[in-house]
Amino acid sequence: MPVDLSSLTLDGRAVIDGRRVDAADGRTFDCVSPVDGRRLTTVARGGPADIDAAVAAARAAFAERRWAGQPPAARKRVLIRLAERILAHADELALLETLDMGKPLRYAKSVDVHAAANCIRWYGEAVDKLYDQIAPTPETALALITREPLGVVGVIVPWNYPLLMAAWKIAPALAAGNSVVLKPSEKSPLSALRLAELALEAGVPPGVFNVVPGFGPEAGSALALHMDVDGIAFTGSTRVGKQIHVMAGQSNLKRAWTELGGKSPNIVFADCPDLDRAVQAAVAGICFNQGESCNAPSRLLLEASIKDAFLDKALALLPRYQPANPLDKDTVMGAIVDRTQLDTVLRYIAQGQAEGARLLAGGQAVQPVPGGFYVQPTVFDGVTNDMTIAREEIFGPVLSVITFTDAADAVRQANDSIYGLQAAVWTRDLNKAHAVARALRAGTVHVNQYDEDDITVPFGGFKQSGIGRDKSLHAFDKYTELKTTWIRIDSPL
Ligand code: NAD
Repeated sequence: MPVDLSSLTLDGRAVIDGRRVDAADGRTFDCVSPVDGRRLTTVARGGPADIDAAVAAARAAFAERRWAGQPPAARKRVLIRLAERILAHADELALLETLDMGKPLRYAKSVDVHAAANCIRWYGEAVDKLYDQIAPTPETALALITREPLGVVGVIVPWNYPLLMAAWKIAPALAAGNSVVLKPSEKSPLSALRLAELALEAGVPPGVFNVVPGFGPEAGSALALHMDVDGIAFTGSTRVGKQIHVMAGQSNLKRAWTELGGKSPNIVFADCPDLDRAVQAAVAGICFNQGESCNAPSRLLLEASIKDAFLDKALALLPRYQPANPLDKDTVMGAIVDRTQLDTVLRYIAQGQAEGARLLAGGQAVQPVPGGFYVQPTVFDGVTNDMTIAREEIFGPVLSVITFTDAADAVRQANDSIYGLQAAVWTRDLNKAHAVARALRAGTVHVNQYDEDDITVPFGGFKQSGIGRDKSLHAFDKYTELKTTWIRIDSPL
């Protein structure tokens, strides 16, 4: 691997109360790179005692108002400094991300790191421009409706966009004045730990932003069950998301917000305005981040009359998306996060074939880098919406092609899913675009594009894709309590 690791900070210790610390019981786990299977470093295996210590530090910081007590404009300056620190360390953070979870280095830098910095800057800039409200009461009262930080917020994130998923949550949480305890995925903890150091350098006071690495059932559940955590913001699978809501209810009824899985339908009508663009978006969409994206357009719904033409063009694009060394600058598809996830993807591919779908392309594990975990982009034709590969989130570069007859059929099949994260519709007919977009049960509907996006719009799901929204000003709702202060005015003039 032609990369100089000596330039990297590979410190797997937790960050609690502004200090790097080992796990209380000294346990560690290996951090293995999916690029070539090498052990990168050992990481502190946080458990309940470490979560207790981090929550205590976060609580003390909040109670002493070290951060919440600073004027919004001061928090803004610190968050903007943090965004600048992230950009100053963009190469290092991108390399950590690529080594840790296998995405192409070019995207780790141009997408993940830049979007994380932009997110933190955006919430920093927003926070001193928000006003609270005065209710339209009779003049015998002045009723203030104000927003206050929750207090201590627990954050649990997955491995597919480690830095960015963390940023989507910590940025509004910190901007609003909360203290945070973040548990990154055990599969990709390194960038979050580095982020905590950069936050300290930027001026976030010790104890305000703590990071405890560890496994879900150990550190994660300790955080979700903690009696002194006021809110838990989770991104991950629907299976674990459901447990998060149960744990919140079992403990102190902490506010619980979940961003979960998806099986997004990408509907292409025969009157699509630009078939080449639709083909490019479909292929790039399922291959981006090795298909390990919650919003991957994994169900391709094609109007029957254009299916053959569409698939001919799609197959012609696939050579460009064959997996390659993520550290090479031209690579567009990298490694699957670990052996377990690779096996899961291969199991779904076998199941698709067993249930009668036709394998058009891919389907094999490959090793462009010895020791690493890679799979070819895979396309199944002849999929029906009741097959397992159309119903379950695979989280790999596996595209299921389904046909439909008319708009009603497309909408019926698109909505026939437990998920409702995203959807797309391609048509030049404005009426049809509006009608279909409105009928789709999804948090985001793309029209004549897929995955254009920025921080100004909410991101989240209908149905079992979760509860709540990341991004945009709406995210502040998750990290604040609404307070009414009713002031009686005895003798109006
Ligand atoms: P996961 O649910 O297995 O793990 C997510 C996080 O939860 C990890 O940090 C893990 O350690 C922790 N966890 C696991 N078990 C836990 C438990 N019992 N208690 C507390 N925490 C626990 O998901 P994953 O495999 O890391 O990520 C992939 C999933 O994330 C996919 O389903 C994907 O769709 C989803 N995702 C959703 C969004 C979104 O915005 N909707 C974004 C990215 C990823």
